[in-house]
Amino acid sequence: MSGTCMDCKGFKGNCSFESRDEMIPYINLIKEASIKNKINIIDPDEQYQNSNKDLAGIGSEPPYPDIIFYKFACINCGKIYRVFLDWYHGKGESKLI
Ligand SMILES: [Zn+2]
Repeated sequence: MSGTCMDCKGFKGNCSFESRDEMIPYINLIKEASIKNKINIIDPDEQYQNSNKDLAGIGSEPPYPDIIFYKFACINCGKIYRVFLDWYHGKGESKLI
């Protein structure tokens, strides 16, 4: 299932990532959305994020943080996504919750 409005249709409601190459466009997508104020980050997991609570603070290219774990809402339609990317192991998932 993909996202539910024009702003978040690219967020891939329920999908998994099997390699780092698959994650890079997605990381840039949500980072861009964060910079453009199309998403609202809620409840970042402080255990993982530490000083990196802001998506916009993630670099524009690898290496990325070992774990990228965010819950965010699409400001336009209010749908909530949970993204867990294990960059270190090259696996991850995006869920519409
Ligand atoms: Zn939306």
